[in-house]
Amino acid sequence: MGEIGWSKVFLTPRFGPRERFAFIITDAPLQTDPLVEPGTLCDRCKLCVRDCPAGAISATESVKVTVAGVDLEWGRFDEEKCAAVYQAGTPETSPFLPEELGQKIQNLVDMPPGQERSEMLAYDGGAFGLGRQLQYCKNAWESYHHPGTICGARGCQRACFIHLEEQGKLENRFHTPFRIRKPWKLG
Ligand code: SF4
Repeated sequence: MGEIGWSKVFLTPRFGPRERFAFIITDAPLQTDPLVEPGTLCDRCKLCVRDCPAGAISATESVKVTVAGVDLEWGRFDEEKCAAVYQAGTPETSPFLPEELGQKIQNLVDMPPGQERSEMLAYDGGAFGLGRQLQYCKNAWESYHHPGTICGARGCQRACFIHLEEQGKLENRFHTPFRIRKPWKLG
């Protein structure tokens, strides 16, 4: 169906990263088809790393697994950084972030891998709970039972999608390019 990109997001030739999956567990005798050759879509441009406002995707450290004899690799992913920034944004991506909470999130983003975070995260109820301290996050949970993507998925989705679109690798295309102006950031 596709391949795992450096961002750890699954990419398909039809939609790139713009796709979500549900799973059905079955013992039906289904026929498998070959795995997509790694590198068919993801050329390791690492624009996902550059544009992720959480700094959640490592440029250099990776995770490697072998599936059905095929070696797969993606960038080491920091779930805590993503969880906080996905839900609440950063001072650069959310105009509604209170200064104190914005500083905490920025501190988390700036922390190197492996640094002890428990004191900060315990204070805030964990990175996964950071966003729920904000009314706009609570509204998202209450209306569609999922956090809003306040980070704008700038790295793992948009940067990746734009790159694949520019390369003409995707079957499903918009009539006009997805990106027509410079992405904004708060000063
Ligand atoms: S969802 Fe947002 S914070 Fe998480 S990896 Fe993607 S761009 Fe980064």
